Amino acid sequence: MARHYKHMETSVIHEGYDSKDMLGSLSTPLFQTSTYTFATAEQGERRFAGEEDGYIYSRLGNPTVKVLEDRIAALENGERGLAFGSGMAAVSAVLIALTKANDHILCSSGLYGCTFGLLTMMKEKYNISHDFSQMETEEDIRSKIRPETACIYVETPINPTMKLIDLELVVRVAKEYGIPVVVDNTFASPYLQNPLDLGCDVVLHSATKYIGGHGDVIAGLVVGKKEFLDEVAMTTLKDIGGVISPFDAWLLLRGLKTLPVRMDRHSDNAEEIFKRLKTHPNVTEVYYPNDESRSDYAIMKKQMRRGGGVISFEIKGTKKDAQSFLNNLSFLKIAVSLGDAETLIEHPATMTHAVVPGESQRDMGITDQLIRLSVGLEAWEDIWHDLEQALNKINVDAYSKALESR
Ligand SMILES: *Cc1c(COP(=O)(O)O)cnc(C)c1O
Repeated sequence: MARHYKHMETSVIHEGYDSKDMLGSLSTPLFQTSTYTFATAEQGERRFAGEEDGYIYSRLGNPTVKVLEDRIAALENGERGLAFGSGMAAVSAVLIALTKANDHILCSSGLYGCTFGLLTMMKEKYNISHDFSQMETEEDIRSKIRPETACIYVETPINPTMKLIDLELVVRVAKEYGIPVVVDNTFASPYLQNPLDLGCDVVLHSATKYIGGHGDVIAGLVVGKKEFLDEVAMTTLKDIGGVISPFDAWLLLRGLKTLPVRMDRHSDNAEEIFKRLKTHPNVTEVYYPNDESRSDYAIMKKQMRRGGGVISFEIKGTKKDAQSFLNNLSFLKIAVSLGDAETLIEHPATMTHAVVPGESQRDMGITDQLIRLSVGLEAWEDIWHDLEQALNKINVDAYSKALESR
């Protein structure tokens, strides 16, 4: 039956699943199986030869996982989706599929820590080199493209400074050279930003974050053209083997149903917290995409639906003050990761970005005073109340130190 819905709010609930195929089960059944039985030896032969559709073994395909893959493909407006056992399994499968020894990758100037680690390993083992670009101008991107550049790899918003990259601009240059553009869309989620609509070639997610949304799954998703995703499915997914478990796929299908509702609430809450952080005397800088005073606000208007749930900010004081600020919070949780119902707060310099050497940390804008906040789904008044009382104590600390040193 032809689909007759088109809004994302409906697709996150219905796409890729028809209950009448599954004995009327409203919830997508969980196919917790490693293998599939063949009726006859000849049927097994036909399935392996690709002459007959049907499942063989869960590393090659699983019905629960298939619903998730079809659903994410629809949400990102791509031809095919693939699910992985973690965001990093997705990142590595895509980058290994796109490159060969001695190639080059051009990256946005901020990257998730483990992606940075993967690139370092690819350089050491296969001489696949990489460069970073702010990607603010076409000239800067052009000047860093080489004959052996195999892909452009971008995150936007960039973690943890929330700087944005103009995807249309990057695509314009990449098309001149015929280089594919890969976007890590984890921070925005498919509800706030759809890179394939802007001409990018591959979009990937750490589904651990907003897509799962409940802090109980590690998983990754990739969407793009069928030809490329077919290749990934038969090589870097099947043979390296970073597949998702059917149960985790089932949890993601459940989480996805509320993605639009959650993202709007995350964004509403973040906007309230952003306004208040901006005027607090112990906060010196606040980084949030939906900030009219920012130079990249025009990019946000062009390619994002809303600002999302992550805010970074700098406090007055030292590394020690940043740590005591975190310790003084009452119910907000000190933890890395983001996109959960719970508000999570962390110190990038010593946690998520501790692996990045000091000089590169400074280039990426990561100071000892920087705090990253994933605004949760609690009442924003309670979130602010907790942040404010801990921010107010920074003053007290500094004041008492000044007294001591007299
Ligand atoms: C968390 C994260 C990843 C890695 O995902 P995992 O699910 O932890 O493997 C990749 N990119 C970004 C932007 C992330 O936040």
